[in-house]
Amino acid sequence: MSLKGKSAVVTGSTSGIGLGIARALAGAGADIMLNGFGDAGEIEQIRAGLETEFGVKTAFSGVDLTKGDQAKKLVTDAEAAFGKVDILVNNAGIQTVAPVDEFPEDRWELIVALNLSSNFYTTKAALPGMKQRGWGRIINIASAHGLVASPYKAAYVAAKHGVVGFTKVVALETAEQGITCNAICPGFVKTPLVEGQIGEQAKANNMTEEQVVREVILASQPTKKFVEVDDLGALSVFLAGDHAGSITGAALQVDGGWVAR
Ligand code: NAD
Repeated sequence: MSLKGKSAVVTGSTSGIGLGIARALAGAGADIMLNGFGDAGEIEQIRAGLETEFGVKTAFSGVDLTKGDQAKKLVTDAEAAFGKVDILVNNAGIQTVAPVDEFPEDRWELIVALNLSSNFYTTKAALPGMKQRGWGRIINIASAHGLVASPYKAAYVAAKHGVVGFTKVVALETAEQGITCNAICPGFVKTPLVEGQIGEQAKANNMTEEQVVREVILASQPTKKFVEVDDLGALSVFLAGDHAGSITGAALQVDGGWVAR
């Protein structure tokens, strides 16, 4: 229970990687503010389930993080619920796949707002309390696409590169204050976000879904295996712990060797 007494906000934690990280942090003893969209009954089951399974406090906020004010409110709501926010995991993200000259402009705006700008607003809101207490952990879920590009993902790649840059700035500004800020850069993880892309890519490339998985998605991942959500949860617990105090400003690849190419 290395994180007992700590409290965490995990954005986009009603599904996929965010839910896995929330479970892992709760398993280590942290109180958890969940966030995201989805069926109200299912979300309540997740929230209550974490409390029962791990004996931690939980809360849920369904704010829309594409709006800066709501992103800041998520942090202040967590501070009201738990008294403080020690750990901030910026995870919520969306994707659209299209060539630049056909890229829907409203999707560009939304992807940049959620995948990049929400990290700024939540971090801005969380830092004063972290500075006051002299302890904080900020973990930004970027992507291998924060370090390298792929075609048809202009907004996503631009936003994720932005997240890696933002991470470095926050790390430098807070380095002497007991706060770390790191990016995790996963390769492909089989979550609802990727399952959606398999269908879109199959249509765009006139391929079967099996061909897309083998020849497009895992083509760039040398292990030819999807990254496991649980592995990202375990890394987040480590980064949130005291032994990770000297890891800051890093972009940690968990990508089956993708970026090593
Ligand atoms: P997912 O679709 O399973 O989950 C996304 C979460 O974000 C959900 O909880 C959803 O409700 C929430 N969300 C969406 N729009 C929101 C909004 N406007 N406000 C608040 N919450 C919102 O996706 P995932 O695959 O678990 O991805 C999580 C993060 O990991 C994203 O930032 C994604 O870019 C990144 N990532 C994913 C992969 C992958 O292969 N799945 C790889 C690298 C990075």
